Amino acid sequence: MNVINALTFDRQKDDWETSTGFIKRETPMPMLDEQADPRDAISVIVEVRYVGVCGTDRGIWHRQVFRDLISKSMEQEGKTQRILGHEFMGKVIQVGSQVENIYGIQAGNDVSGDSHVTCGKCFQCRVGEEEVCLDQKILGISLDGIFASYAKLPAKNLWQVDQERIRPEIAAILDPFGNAIHCCSKVDLKGKRVAILGCGPIGLFTVLLTRAFGASKIIAVDVAEQNLRMAKELGAHETIHIQKPAQASLSADSELLAHIQKLTHNKGVDVAFEMAGPNSSVLNALEITRSGGHIILFGLRDGDFQIPRFKNIVVKGLTLHGVIGRQIFQTWQTSQRMLSDKTNGIQEKIWRVILKEGKDTIIPFDHYTKELMEQKMTQHPKIILKF
Ligand SMILES: [Zn+2]
Ligand SMILES: [Zn+2]
Repeated sequence: MNVINALTFDRQKDDWETSTGFIKRETPMPMLDEQADPRDAISVIVEVRYVGVCGTDRGIWHRQVFRDLISKSMEQEGKTQRILGHEFMGKVIQVGSQVENIYGIQAGNDVSGDSHVTCGKCFQCRVGEEEVCLDQKILGISLDGIFASYAKLPAKNLWQVDQERIRPEIAAILDPFGNAIHCCSKVDLKGKRVAILGCGPIGLFTVLLTRAFGASKIIAVDVAEQNLRMAKELGAHETIHIQKPAQASLSADSELLAHIQKLTHNKGVDVAFEMAGPNSSVLNALEITRSGGHIILFGLRDGDFQIPRFKNIVVKGLTLHGVIGRQIFQTWQTSQRMLSDKTNGIQEKIWRVILKEGKDTIIPFDHYTKELMEQKMTQHPKIILKF
């Protein structure tokens, strides 16, 4: 049997409570076998070239998110080992018998793809709202992912990429870039004052996009100075450094609120993007947004949240938008256009500022060690593995 290397979590070998990291292990080379599984007729084998390491992957690295989803899905599949990872770019090397007929994809095509594998049957899927599918699986979480030199993927999730328009390292992160596009498509941003709470990669993409979509004042907020320096370089008008609040804090950051009031002439922002996750950040978003404004809730944390003076949401007439995944494939179309347009500088800035032209941010898969990865993940908001 042919085997390949993959970065994995094994529910029998890696204790969730005490282990960390992705463990490099051998796994069988994925194959198409339509007799054994008819779904292979609409699947492909991709030779993976570049993969992005996401905030979600960091959460799994530290065993903070998706414990139940990972272990339950493996139980259902009768597996003990999950291949992690979901942001990718690669080349199709083999296609199932129906793939070209139905999806127009052939061996040799360069592809990226959406990490959410939707059911196609539920009400939401049928009305074109696949991002909120009732029975979706996520690559690298509830299905085997792409931290491996080859992966078997459903053809319907693939997005063909043209390397003339989008460089392959950036094609590998179309998935999280699409999250930012999706967030920015919820409200009209022209002339708006916006705050971005949390400047990890998706928050930084949101700085670029709110600029491109016409926001007139972009205020970036983060606990890490280096993220704020990048936000500034990407086009934020103002940056505000905040302290990590005490775990139990149930009030908004009064200094942040005062600072935002000053920057907005006592009005508050029109739109707040919550992209950090903690309860305190949601409270900050609720306080800094003007009456009648919008809050885009994208940060994700397990557990219960509390909102003091809940009635203020009603009294202030706030609109809250929960955003998950990407609209398939509307978001992808927009992402491609925004990255292909060389005049807006977005692709160039992602490459230069966030990925530092690949210096120290792109790690050859063969060099992977837990220690190296941990070091690079603390130094850079976005890391890419190269096969
Ligand atoms: Zn991701
Ligand atoms: Zn569905």
